[in-house]
Amino acid sequence: MNALVELKSELRAISDLNAAAMVLEWDQNTYMPAGGATARGRQIALLSRLAHERRAAKRMGELLSELSATADEATVDGALVRRALRDYQRATKVPSELMEKISNHGSTLYAAWTEARSANDFAMVRPLLEQNLELSKRYAEYFEVDHPIDAFIDEHDPGMTAASLKTLFASLRAELVPIVEKLLAKPAPDRSFLDADYPQEKQLAFAAAVSETLGYDFDRGRQDLTHHPFMIRFSSGDVRITTRVDPRDFTDCLFGTIHETGHALYEQNIDRAFDGTPLGAGTSTGVHESQSRLWENLVGRSRPFWEHLYPKLQDTFPDPLKGVSLDDFHRAINAVERGLVRVDSDEVTYNLHVMLRFDLECAMLEGELAIADLPEAWNARMEADLGKRPPTNTLGCLQDVHWYCIPIGGAFQGYTLGNLMSAQFFAAATQALPDLEGQLARGEFAPLREWLTEQVYRHGATYFPDELIQRATGAKLSPKPFLDYLRKKYGPLYGVDFGA
Ligand code: ZN
Repeated sequence: MNALVELKSELRAISDLNAAAMVLEWDQNTYMPAGGATARGRQIALLSRLAHERRAAKRMGELLSELSATADEATVDGALVRRALRDYQRATKVPSELMEKISNHGSTLYAAWTEARSANDFAMVRPLLEQNLELSKRYAEYFEVDHPIDAFIDEHDPGMTAASLKTLFASLRAELVPIVEKLLAKPAPDRSFLDADYPQEKQLAFAAAVSETLGYDFDRGRQDLTHHPFMIRFSSGDVRITTRVDPRDFTDCLFGTIHETGHALYEQNIDRAFDGTPLGAGTSTGVHESQSRLWENLVGRSRPFWEHLYPKLQDTFPDPLKGVSLDDFHRAINAVERGLVRVDSDEVTYNLHVMLRFDLECAMLEGELAIADLPEAWNARMEADLGKRPPTNTLGCLQDVHWYCIPIGGAFQGYTLGNLMSAQFFAAATQALPDLEGQLARGEFAPLREWLTEQVYRHGATYFPDELIQRATGAKLSPKPFLDYLRKKYGPLYGVDFGA
């Protein structure tokens, strides 16, 4: 058998093992009774181990070194070899005993965290979190990197490093904090009508209809209920989304659905020929998040989008929305708040929450911030950026699961990268589609979706993020399109003059 054919067949087996594990995960997070947890954890771990063994196998290394010697990166097969080699090198760097230790410790720490969070007791998890930091540092030692966090960033957002992100984020934060201050000095919009009776069945039907209008293909997907919404891909023919419903607030289900739809549009529109290979997936966490945020915020929270949709929403929920004008509604769904919780925060303050976490995890890995000092460091930074101190650690450094179940580092920057990229992609799309606003206002989403498919989706993981952004937007990633977008949108909404 020729080496490329053998490689592809091996990659398909790995992809199938991973997909089988993901079906089990999807079930675990949707329909599985709680009693299934122990066995399910074991089953998923077994499939993941089998996939890992094949990914790190000696034969895989031989095939890749033979193929990469002659691969032309400008071809699809060359891109495939490049991506597979990267996966192989990552899979073989860290000894499996350490991986197992990290995974076991993650389960113990997660269980302790759920208790500590509800008890608002940081001391309960402190020693376990200290061990997690030590394990994270040991993991990073296996990579030749300038900063320990680079070992983790590279996994999620290839091409980025602590150094490049610190520069990018510092320039973003310097401009963002004054924007937030100016907006928060203005009266808050009325949101009272959002807290009303919004029946669950109607919410689900409305959200699914919106998802379908945006282009989500229900013949190659489905939507189910879960606790923490996610998108999951088993193959190009089966890309699923999940949601949850708060009967007193329709925005959670609707904007959550649009967010997951954005992730799914990416996965459903990848070239189907890439199925079963490492190219058949989004290229990075940041680029993936750029698509969920683009559809959720730049489209879903825009005035044109609601010109089209608001009459339908009023028809669906006549009681709470009767007499609420489109302008008042638009202001309410774009309220900027001094919130303490990342996942509930608006698009203006959101990145401040992310950059706080990124800077603190860098400091922890550098040995500059001791775990014992984490709660105070967190609270001080919240006060500096948002002018509000968390009253409890539950609303502070215990709020996110990330540091309490996986190694510390690399899990947050993708959210802000995604926000920055979303504005940059959208600005490029607006250039290419001069009538984009008019199209959104008429409920015509195909032109935008097709532009994104051509520029981003269909390529899957063929290009690394920096290459993809350069190709699609003609420029390197920059915070400027995002900051321009915020000023242009929120200036008029809040009656703030941001200057020219
Ligand atoms: Zn997302």
